[in-house]
Amino acid sequence: MSTLKPSIMDFTRQELMEQIKPSFRVKQIFGWTYHNFVDSFDEMQNLPKAMREELAQKYLLNPLKIVKKELASDGTIKYLFELQDGKTVEAVWLKMKEEQSDEDGNTTQEAKYTICVSTQVGCKVGCAFCLTAKGGFTRDLTPGEIVAQVVSLKKDNNHAHNRKINIVYMGMGEPLDNLKNLAKAIEIFKDEEGLAIGAKRQTVSTSGLSTKIDKLGEMDLGVHIAISLHAVDDELRTELIPMNKAHNIASIIEAVKRFPIDTRKRVMFEYLVIKDKNDDIASAKKLIKLLSGIKAKVNLIYFNPYPGTDYKRPEKKDMIAFQEYLVKHGLLCTIRDSKGIDISAACGQLKEKEKEKDF
Ligand code: SAH
Ligand code: SF4
Repeated sequence: MSTLKPSIMDFTRQELMEQIKPSFRVKQIFGWTYHNFVDSFDEMQNLPKAMREELAQKYLLNPLKIVKKELASDGTIKYLFELQDGKTVEAVWLKMKEEQSDEDGNTTQEAKYTICVSTQVGCKVGCAFCLTAKGGFTRDLTPGEIVAQVVSLKKDNNHAHNRKINIVYMGMGEPLDNLKNLAKAIEIFKDEEGLAIGAKRQTVSTSGLSTKIDKLGEMDLGVHIAISLHAVDDELRTELIPMNKAHNIASIIEAVKRFPIDTRKRVMFEYLVIKDKNDDIASAKKLIKLLSGIKAKVNLIYFNPYPGTDYKRPEKKDMIAFQEYLVKHGLLCTIRDSKGIDISAACGQLKEKEKEKDF
């Protein structure tokens, strides 16, 4: 394979200042890239022409191409991107809060948005319920490919660079399995001269690689973590997430206890509810015990079925009973509304649909 060009978005401002002279130009390049969302170096009008040409030879600007877009009735938009080597990944634009207007038609409350980004093409973890896992692992995303998902979605939705946005690393792939590139993307997002998305607005979701949770904690980046727990005993968890053998529930809980957490915040535990597997009150009871002593918040997720899976979506009444039990016993718990259920909600599903069409 021919060597691929790096993207401007692969580098922190500091790194670019070592590569591009005079270094004050980097601030201008950052502005065009992360404030104006331009598509080419040629649009960077305050750079000399020769420099624009040299940059275009050395770097790509945005390494992603939008190849498919699906809109749901609730405002969710799912994107499929093609990477330089022809591989594809997904990102999702989620509307978290409706816009509200007063009688005069003035906006009183702005809509809030979250972007769900991918960190790998495929995934090594191989969870039994996850469509991304079915295709195996292809490669890590570069920092630029992670950063560009947010740039592309903001641009496509006319979301000004200084409007607040949240990032959740919950797309395709296991973020902690690509820790180096993830950490760099987090830094680039945080840069005040760029998108200025603070660490508190970024949540890393992990299937529970406990040693890497420690590593992320040691980096002290200030991000939140969400743990995909999904089961309260190791037997079921190993069925669902095979690497639970090496990183069992106890080791994850210990790592979470060591993780530096903003005292006002809680660690999110995601619990994928599968009918007749983990949707009973006995599991809810065990969950309370497991999380005692942790400032936790539980997010119950409906399993989203796809062709070929034996797992089933839970009944609404069982979800509610599960939630009520946790709340009654003092645990904060929400049910994730199935955003974009009429498109291809869970990770990996849009990509899978594209493949089916190829046959
Ligand atoms: N690898 C990381 C982040 C990406 S997966 C992790 O596992 O946490 C993001 C979330 O999507 C996880 O909580 C995962 O459990 C959930 N998910 C995967 N397949 C799903 C499905 N079929 N239905 C509902 N949620 C699913
Ligand atoms: Fe990977 Fe997360 Fe899917 Fe598991 S749920 S296979 S860790 S992307």
